[in-house]
Amino acid sequence: MRDAFELRTADAAGRIGELTVPRAGVTVETPALMPVVNPNIRTIDPARLPEFGAEICITNSYIIRETDGLREEALDRGLHDLLGFDGAIVTDSGSFQLAEYGDVDVTTREILRFQRDVGSDVGTPVDIPTPPDVDRERAEADLDRTETALSDAAGVDVGDMLVNAPVQGSTFPDLRERAGRAAAATDLDVFPVGAVVPLMNAYRYADVVDAVAAAKRGLDADCPVHLFGAGHPMTFALAAALGCDLFDSAAYAIYARDDRYLTVRGTEALDDLEYLPCSCPVCADHGADGLRALGDDERERRLAEHNLHVSFEELRRIKQAIRAGDLLELVEARARGHPALLDGYRALLDHVDQLERADRASKGTFFHLSGESARRPEVRRHHDRLDRLPVPDGDVLLTEGGVPSDDRYDATWRVVPPFGPFPRALSESYPLTAEVPERTDRAAEEAAARGVASLVAANPGTAFTLAHRGWTERALALVPDGVAVESLSTVEAGDRDGDQGVASDDRDGDQGVASRGDTDTDP
Ligand SMILES: [Zn+2]
Repeated sequence: MRDAFELRTADAAGRIGELTVPRAGVTVETPALMPVVNPNIRTIDPARLPEFGAEICITNSYIIRETDGLREEALDRGLHDLLGFDGAIVTDSGSFQLAEYGDVDVTTREILRFQRDVGSDVGTPVDIPTPPDVDRERAEADLDRTETALSDAAGVDVGDMLVNAPVQGSTFPDLRERAGRAAAATDLDVFPVGAVVPLMNAYRYADVVDAVAAAKRGLDADCPVHLFGAGHPMTFALAAALGCDLFDSAAYAIYARDDRYLTVRGTEALDDLEYLPCSCPVCADHGADGLRALGDDERERRLAEHNLHVSFEELRRIKQAIRAGDLLELVEARARGHPALLDGYRALLDHVDQLERADRASKGTFFHLSGESARRPEVRRHHDRLDRLPVPDGDVLLTEGGVPSDDRYDATWRVVPPFGPFPRALSESYPLTAEVPERTDRAAEEAAARGVASLVAANPGTAFTLAHRGWTERALALVPDGVAVESLSTVEAGDRDGDQGVASDDRDGDQGVASRGDTDTDP
């Protein structure tokens, strides 16, 4: 067990937790957003950060150490006094500068001692942030150096300062996983997944997801994970659903400098905005024209304030979604904001087994909102559990609606896409209380058909009949051969038409109900 971090509740792989930061004397609720404070450019006075909801912030100890005057002031007064911030302060080590400029003039031991001496609450060793797409040899060599930095860090007397154990490995999932395992084996405290900024900047959210998912496989469930450099609020829900607990935002200030206005659906140029889709104090007081009319410094500061407000608002929304159990519905909504985020969401669902292991068993109502919903962990779990549900021998009807042509069954189960079959007694149990659209989609039908296949495989002694509402050929092709298949729309059309069976004649062929087709009239 890691003393500093305690998990409260989970949704998918997302979780609400508490990070105890002993040196600051505070407990930070996660997921948490850490505004990045540039010690030389204070777009927003750090003393004001609690107004926005910040309990923790991050600044760069390397810049402080390398800046004459600032270094002495930090050592003399301590970081909290220097920044005027009472919450927890995380310090970066210069690794970012190392990645940008190729070299830094400090070792892990030196920077950790400096961080301890200026009163940092969470320090960072000098890890090697390997960019994406490098060759494997370089990624492995860099990873070896990062692992050396972690073992150096473990040997420094840091008092009760927590220490980051960064997880690198570039775009190699197996290296990310190995790095996660090595980091978790140390007694360091917080686990930043590093060097994802270039992926974020290139909108490669699917690659970010794969890197984080791999790191998480190596880390233990009780490791607090920081997605280093993920500052855009439109990405928070996706990252939180993967199990990221800490985010940092330099974006709020950097974007403001270029007159860019953050929203949960993307970034807008202030010049393009006629209306402001936000009710934070800045937007409520100014409006788009009012913001544009401000002088440069004031406008930058106000935009940074809005950017922070919208970021913290999204964090609160995510925490409420985890609490309510509808985080994946929020991810789904955010994924519709940009095609690259949809790729990210689809990549998240590639890791459904990983999500399923962390997910809690019962939540609010499952909303089926798209083809992606059919790949959610709740669907996978239902399919995995079908083999445990008792099924009578004899004839069992699986039906999307009523009872079809001939009611001679020993048992009748409901079928609801995307889940597939379940006994009526489970209708009030999560996730089978799901809200699903009446106009279902192919992915949901195919998932339901896979559920039928699981049930059939687990019960070879039972004769199944599936009554469906016009499933596609592709879905029906997933139903095992031994299952008698009947289209309810055919049956219902037959009922309405009396004994004519006109509609059913057209559809028998392509619905594969020929074996039972001539029994679809009432006696
Ligand atoms: Zn606003």
